[in-house]
Amino acid sequence: MKLKNKVALITGAGSGIGRATAKLFVKEGAKVVIADVSPEGEKATESIGKNAHFIHVDVRKEEDIERMIKEAVNQFGHIDILMNNAGIGKNILIEKMDAEDWDDIISTNLRGVFFGIKHVVPFMKKQGGGVILNTASELAFVGDIGWSAYAASKGGVVQLTKVAAMELMKYSIRVNVLCPGPTATPMLLKGITKEEKKRIEKLVPLGRLGKPEEMARGALFLASEDSSFMTGASLLIDGGIIAKE
Ligand code: NAD
Repeated sequence: MKLKNKVALITGAGSGIGRATAKLFVKEGAKVVIADVSPEGEKATESIGKNAHFIHVDVRKEEDIERMIKEAVNQFGHIDILMNNAGIGKNILIEKMDAEDWDDIISTNLRGVFFGIKHVVPFMKKQGGGVILNTASELAFVGDIGWSAYAASKGGVVQLTKVAAMELMKYSIRVNVLCPGPTATPMLLKGITKEEKKRIEKLVPLGRLGKPEEMARGALFLASEDSSFMTGASLLIDGGIIAKE
């Protein structure tokens, strides 16, 4: 087991990639805190059982993140792994985007990651180290129509990861970023037609969407000692999209 006796806090673990990661981490011996704004987080926690604990959190709010970190430490005694994974995607052309949508995407996907890192660091320093992994996207590296705020937020997460890695290595805290390509989760599948799904599949050189479980295996690699010589790095699991660009 790769995460025996570890405690992992995963934001956005009520669904999709975060949920699959929480399940895999528990299988690998960890206790997990599932932090989510949606009641789906409670369902995910119940399905895992006693090794999971649910915390309601809105990552856009700094006070929620502070409370989340404290509650996780109270519940399980320490936090070895923080996965800043909560995210939203909205496809809106730049000309049609209003400030509210822009701010919502940036606050969730980028500012929420910053808050997570900021507030976990004092605890990780005290306990002598830890691992932080963030979830970005292949859209951190390539552009696509309608994804301005999303791609900007994810590019920001990649850069934030590099700076955090440099600042925190002296405390034995490694920081890396998982960059999934199109993945079959509610975020991508909600409200799209069969034709749209086929169009997206065709964009992927491997010819299909990724599975949340395939992203979870990447998260396990970044969270465990298997990646002990990695910090500030991006792990692309994108079915070949970036290679084709
Ligand atoms: P998902 O919609 O299945 O899960 C996202 C979770 O985040 C949900 O449970 C949601 O309730 C939670 N969340 C949203 N806003 C929140 C907030 N303010 N506070 C707390 N929780 C919040 O989506 P997913 O595909 O599993 O996405 C996980 C991460 O992977 C996201 O950061 C996303 O941008 C990234 N990603 C997804 C894809 C994809 O194709 N699905 C591709 C690249 C990157």
